[in-house]
Amino acid sequence: MINANSPTILSVKNLTAEIDGNPILKGLNLEVKAGEIHAIMGINGSGKSTLSKILAGHPAYKVTGGTVEFMGKDLLDMPAEDRARSGVFLAFQYPMAIPGVTNLDFLRVSYNTKCKHEGREEIDPFDFDELVESKLELLKMDPSFLSRGVNEGFSGGEKKRNEILQMALLEPKLGILDEIDSGLDIDALRVVASGVNALANTDNAMLLVTHYQRLLDYITPDYVHVMADGRILQTGDKALALELEAKGYDWILEGAAS
Ligand code: ADP
Ligand code: MG
Repeated sequence: MINANSPTILSVKNLTAEIDGNPILKGLNLEVKAGEIHAIMGINGSGKSTLSKILAGHPAYKVTGGTVEFMGKDLLDMPAEDRARSGVFLAFQYPMAIPGVTNLDFLRVSYNTKCKHEGREEIDPFDFDELVESKLELLKMDPSFLSRGVNEGFSGGEKKRNEILQMALLEPKLGILDEIDSGLDIDALRVVASGVNALANTDNAMLLVTHYQRLLDYITPDYVHVMADGRILQTGDKALALELEAKGYDWILEGAAS
């Protein structure tokens, strides 16, 4: 929901970044206010995942210019753990498995780390079980997921639900969902989307990174940005996503080149 008076959650100005000496982001600008849902679309290789990972603090990417402010603070100056604790959450395009660590333990430790950062006491394990149960229902996940290794042997759709489960527990200020729709059948897509819709509120913001508009049938973005070659070329609303679906990406790239 757009409200001009809402505080700014994320402000990216003229961001440039490279990996192994290859420039990937080439002057990216993005302003996200509380209460807003932004979709970032673009063909493969345009730099969407790079942007997501840089915001989360992935060490492989080198920022070579520009600024990123999160809630008024210099995000690039914060170690990745501090970013997570302060409310930046990245749901990965390819979630990692952590064999040997149960999902329940992983979630509880993550949750308690956040409590500590906020100066709150650790949650009682029984209370945590109840909290997780309520979130499992939201995502239509079976409680047996909790006793399995993190993402161990999970199907693609289960991994994505598990990412949203983490987000539901951590209640981030900025949720960055990288291709949360990829590999999901329509039922899983609906569940994931309703989870995101349930978590989006006037105090937080969501950045949906997606190649396809079908996710946007279930989550209505306030803004749709089209990325190409490390920049945002065009910004519109949901209508732009529908136009991309109907016409493909070429017309935007051609418009930018001419
Ligand atoms: P998207 O998510 O939009 O598909 P990415 O951010 O994954 O795009 O990739 C952007 C560009 O960066 C691509 O051209 C890709 O080949 C390149 N790239 C990503 N990771 C690496 C890497 N580790 N080494 C070299 N190039 C990379
Ligand atoms: Mg990607």
